[in-house]
Amino acid sequence: MRKKIRMFGMAAAMAVTMSACHSGTYEKVDVPETSAVVETAANGAQAFGTSGDKADPSQCRDTVDGINTVGKTAESSAVKAELTTETAPNMEERNETVYVNATDLNVRTAPQPGAEVVTKVTGGQELQRTGYSDSWSRVVYNGQVCYVSSQYLTTTKPQVQETTAAAHTDEIRSGSSEVGLNADWKYAGFSKINSGKAVLYRSESANRKGKVVCVNAGHGTSGGGSVKTQCHPDGTPKVTGGTTGAGATSAVAVSGGMQFADGTGEAKVTLALAKVLKDKLIARGYDVLMIRESDDVQLDNIARTVLANNLADCHIALHWDSTTSNKGAFYMSVPNVSSYRSMEPVASHWQEHHALGDSLIAGLKGTGVKIFSNGKMEMDLTQTSYSTVPSVDIELGDKVSDHSAATLDTLGNGLADGVEQFFGK
Ligand SMILES: [Zn+2]
Repeated sequence: MRKKIRMFGMAAAMAVTMSACHSGTYEKVDVPETSAVVETAANGAQAFGTSGDKADPSQCRDTVDGINTVGKTAESSAVKAELTTETAPNMEERNETVYVNATDLNVRTAPQPGAEVVTKVTGGQELQRTGYSDSWSRVVYNGQVCYVSSQYLTTTKPQVQETTAAAHTDEIRSGSSEVGLNADWKYAGFSKINSGKAVLYRSESANRKGKVVCVNAGHGTSGGGSVKTQCHPDGTPKVTGGTTGAGATSAVAVSGGMQFADGTGEAKVTLALAKVLKDKLIARGYDVLMIRESDDVQLDNIARTVLANNLADCHIALHWDSTTSNKGAFYMSVPNVSSYRSMEPVASHWQEHHALGDSLIAGLKGTGVKIFSNGKMEMDLTQTSYSTVPSVDIELGDKVSDHSAATLDTLGNGLADGVEQFFGK
């Protein structure tokens, strides 16, 4: 992921004539919440690249016009009229300091997703906001008037999050940033719940691996049980049973999860394990994409999967099964059904899902964790059906399995060992 900030000199901006700016008209685009995430540059495709080198500061209005716009309505040059009426309808006047709350945020010449990206700003960057709408904000960047997605701005200065383990030693410190679903990403359109944010932690360990592991604490999406999403991207029915029966073409977006025999909700335990695993992976040099860090994240299973597809090198969803036999750990393998194994993206990725699952089971086995049967069970899952990186749902036990802190620590060690095994150390 890139972290470039391009600065344009005031002199360069001032030298540009007004006629060079905004000579075209822009479509009025009502940007839905989800497409605004195009504005995070977690998307490599949207990143600066070569076109950035040709970025023209003239695409943002120069300082003089920018200042004229702030908090005033009397000025009415042709350019300004075009901007305020054509490109920024219903923008409330503001005059406030805001902060960027995203990994990389596109700063654009106009309030529309396709407008030219002038630069990218990183999390914590301070900007002056002069106009606001639900979708877009008008800001002054480096003396120029530009537009950024409103959802990645906050009026409170963001705190840099650190892992709890970071307090122990400098070696495992990490930086972090929130990441949302980009509506342009493949399969993102199949997601129904995606207003939540995952958090990407960067290991600052001396032995940094340069790999991102998506740790997905199963369940924990309020309202997820009353929304349905399509099981397969091609609309075909599920080939095995499970939470949703075989033959169904849609399933709950995120189920509530089971309840342990002692009354603890599965989602609580998956979250506790996710936090343990996160710290262990960061300490070992892996970056971690944490899908959920509290009891509720508004990301359905498809959103979680698409985030992992685009931001991680593998995806591990943590679960416990709903049986009551303390049967041990296993992963959900890809059903040996030809129609399923020949459907994309399953066809291109199922073998790597198995390689990841086998490595995790080997790691767990190595730390003494009880393993069910041969460590896998065939299951047609939404996660698998949309995964384009090595991806498994791993069940660490069931309703009657112990989930004490000591057990979670052992499970965390086993899973981290499995990750190392998968990536070949
Ligand atoms: Zn579960």
